[in-house]
Amino acid sequence: RMERRPFTDRQVALLQTFADQAVIAINNVGLFEQVEARTKELTESLEFQTATSEVLGVISKSPNDLQPVLDTIVATARRLCESEYALVSKKAADGLYHVAAHSNADPEFIDWLRKNPIAVGDGSLVGCVAAEKQAIHMPDALADPRFRDYRRQKHSKARTMFGVPLMHRGEVLGVVFLARYDVRPFTQRQVELVTTFADQAVIAISNTRLFEEVQARTKELSRSVAELRSLGEVGRTVSSTLDLGEVLKTILENACAMSGTSGGALYVFDKGKSEFHLEAGHNMSEEHIAHVRAQPIRLGDAVVGECGQRREAVQMADLDQAARSPMLDVLRRNGVRAVLAVPLLHQGEVIGALVVRRNQPGAFSAETVRLLEAFAAQSAIATHNARLFKEIEEKGEQLRIASQHKSQFVANMSHELRTPLAAMLGYAELLKEGIYGALPEKSSPIITRIQSNGKHLLGLINTVLDIAKIESGQLTLNLADYGLANVVETVRMATESLASAKKLAFKTEVAKDLPLGLGDQQRLVQVLLNLVGNAIKFTDAGEVRIAASTADNHFRVAVTDTGPGIPPDQCEKVFEEFHQVDNSNTKAKGGTGLGLAIAKQIVEMHGGRIWVESTLGQGSTFRLELPVRAIAAAKGAA
Ligand code: ADP
Repeated sequence: RMERRPFTDRQVALLQTFADQAVIAINNVGLFEQVEARTKELTESLEFQTATSEVLGVISKSPNDLQPVLDTIVATARRLCESEYALVSKKAADGLYHVAAHSNADPEFIDWLRKNPIAVGDGSLVGCVAAEKQAIHMPDALADPRFRDYRRQKHSKARTMFGVPLMHRGEVLGVVFLARYDVRPFTQRQVELVTTFADQAVIAISNTRLFEEVQARTKELSRSVAELRSLGEVGRTVSSTLDLGEVLKTILENACAMSGTSGGALYVFDKGKSEFHLEAGHNMSEEHIAHVRAQPIRLGDAVVGECGQRREAVQMADLDQAARSPMLDVLRRNGVRAVLAVPLLHQGEVIGALVVRRNQPGAFSAETVRLLEAFAAQSAIATHNARLFKEIEEKGEQLRIASQHKSQFVANMSHELRTPLAAMLGYAELLKEGIYGALPEKSSPIITRIQSNGKHLLGLINTVLDIAKIESGQLTLNLADYGLANVVETVRMATESLASAKKLAFKTEVAKDLPLGLGDQQRLVQVLLNLVGNAIKFTDAGEVRIAASTADNHFRVAVTDTGPGIPPDQCEKVFEEFHQVDNSNTKAKGGTGLGLAIAKQIVEMHGGRIWVESTLGQGSTFRLELPVRAIAAAKGAA
């Protein structure tokens, strides 16, 4: 029997405490469970994040190698998504999806898969993903109406499947595939993780593609650069030297180096004999050279002759497969296995051939043929240039000889003309003086005309003789002491009457105490006479003035007139042979255009210079500067 006794207050209070504690305990359990769930979630996200950054790490460590990236992706995805196995299938050139990486898959299944790549839309999950270009989750493939690939399923034994496409510019490059043998759907987070991996795989794939592209480009570029450099070198040789042997040697060496061949040769085509002759060889054996010398290649003969006949590149990829011929036998004996020949063409005609030889069999690529054609074009230019240059040289020599003959002839002729003319002038003088008896009154002015025309003719003959002497290098100076004042005086006396006949003032300004000069006085008189003669000839009103002085051991002579002047662009040209200022004035005044050319030559032989300063319509000043003592500077002085 229970004693009815009320609980004491303490007992009640204690019980209350117990109750409170029970509540706390119950609450604690809930909290604990929450904390545990949260911790699991956090651990998972941490794991997923770590996995993602791991894959990124692999990508950055091997930027040009895809395999480690795919391997990491399948291994990590399989582990974190708790699947039986994982695969990456990659689209190959045949358009089918082949296994590129796998984790934990049955080796027999992988073998089978290798032999049976997946086609787009073939009813497998990967085929569906490739067809629909989106991720597909089949919680139970056997219950999914899209799944028809039971044959493969028999091998894979997979029930729950998930696949994500590797999308790049709208193309499915591959598929990441996860499988479970039991029916157990993937969680949303796992799906997200694999999607992230797929994105990373795409990055890795495009990286490798870019890298391969860049590498291919770089290779291509460096090859073109090398080709250009080599063609440039040849181009420089072609334009810098006329030594044909040197040029062809450079071309051959470059052609062999760039085409990766061991030797080569350049042949020149003899049109008359219809034969190719060896012009240059690179790495050719004595036997080989002797053979082509003794038996020149004829049009149509193997390789070289054939390329000449067809006017295009001809190659023999394997000499061992070719028909026998003495020439090919020589090549074979020298270890040659493949030959490429291209014709040297000039205006469509064959002028030679460039040939390269390789000791390994194999066809020459289109690029090598193209490159060799470029070298052949340069050889053609060089050969043609050399021919032209030889012709020009021969022509130049012929011209030089012809010109020499002409000058010699003119010099002789002028001399021969002077003798009878001098006799005629002499007899005219005697007639005038009445040695042969008195002449009728009327004949006197006629004889004067005979004399003046004769003197004019003599002047012309002397001018032509001087030019001929200058051209044939026969003009020489007779150096002696002279006084410049005398020279000016002689010229004044000879020309003053001409000036006064044209009513021109004639002035001379000669400095006092001019030093004694050394030079050819007669020739200097000739120069000054020419200048003053021109001044009077071209001036119709005003004055003609001669000024002479010294400064710095040089005589300075100036002949100034108030004539028509000379256009600025003509001031240098008037000193050229046969040059006359092209206007009616000059034509009306007559002349040969030789006077100033001779004067310039004489002045320069004295080591001096001559020039003209002029203002059109106001007049001209011809200036001379002559070393006082010409000896040191005189060129050609004798
Ligand atoms: P020429 O007087 O026999 O024609 P020159 O060689 O002496 O040959 O002169 C060449 C040309 O220079 C002349 O034809 C003339 O046109 C021009 N010339 C020379 N001297 C003068 C001058 N003082 N004034 C104007 N023109 C001149």
